[in-house]
Amino acid sequence: MFVVDIVTLFPSLFFGPLAAGMLGRARRAGRFAVRLHDLRRWGIGRQRQVDDTPYGGGGGMILRPEPLFAAVDWIRERYPAEGSRVVLLSPQGRKLDHAGARRLAGYRRLILLCGRYEGVDERVREGLADEELSIGDLVLTGGELPAMMVTDAVARFIPGVLGQSRAAENESFADGLLESPYYTRPAEFRGLRVPDVLASGDHAAIAEWRATMARQATRSKRPDLLDREGSAKRREGAERSEE
Ligand code: SAH
Repeated sequence: MFVVDIVTLFPSLFFGPLAAGMLGRARRAGRFAVRLHDLRRWGIGRQRQVDDTPYGGGGGMILRPEPLFAAVDWIRERYPAEGSRVVLLSPQGRKLDHAGARRLAGYRRLILLCGRYEGVDERVREGLADEELSIGDLVLTGGELPAMMVTDAVARFIPGVLGQSRAAENESFADGLLESPYYTRPAEFRGLRVPDVLASGDHAAIAEWRATMARQATRSKRPDLLDREGSAKRREGAERSEE
C-alpha cells in the first residue's frame, strides 16, 4: 500500500481535506494511507521546543533540525519501508507538476516535512530531505497546504484511487496539452448550445473534435505548454533513467 507520512505542527489541518471525496474513499478502501505526525512530540525539553531564532539575526523563528531528524528516524524505525522518499515542502524547491506527481507516486512511501514560520534549519535540506518541492512561486504560512496538494496530486496516480471511469493519464497536462471542454445537460442553456458533434454519436468525429479543442485551448490559455512539449518529454525520460 502507498503510504504518506506527514510531519507537521498542525496535524488537525489535514482532517477535513483527506477525509472527503475520492481521497477519503480511497483511504477507507485501503488503497493508500496517510499518517500524521505531530512535530511537537519530538520537541526539545519540557516546553517541547521546536523552533529558535536565526543565527546572524533577522526576525522570525526557524524550525530546529533535531525534532525533524528525530521524527524521520522514528517513522523509519517504527514503519520500515524500502524506497521511502523524504520531501521538504519549500518555496525554493522544484515546482510540482504533473510529471513530478507521477514520479513521486512511484515511491512506496513519502515522508513530507511541513515547514512553518521563517522556514527550517538548512541542515534539514542538507542532511535529511531527499528533495525540496514547491507548489508555486509564492510564499504560504506553512507547508501543510502544499503537503495536501502533493498528497492529492500523487494519490490520483495510485491504481484504484480514481476508480474505473477515469485515469489520471487522460487529464490536462498528461500529454502536454490541456483537456478539451466538457458539456453536460441541458443541450441549450441561456442561449448557449452544446456543440452538435458531441451529441452526434459519431465517436471518430468526437475524438477529432476533442483533439482539436485541446490544442486550441492550450494555444490560447497556456501557449508555454506547446513550446515545452518536446523538452518536457525529454526531461521525463532523463528522470526515469536517473533512478
Ligand atoms: N522564509 C522562507 C519562507 C518560509 S514559509 C523563504 O523565504 O524561503 C514557511 C513554510 O511554509 C516553509 O518552510 C514551507 O514549508 C512552507 N511553504 C511556503 N510556501 C511554500 C511553497 N510555495 N511551496 C511549498 N512550501 C511552502
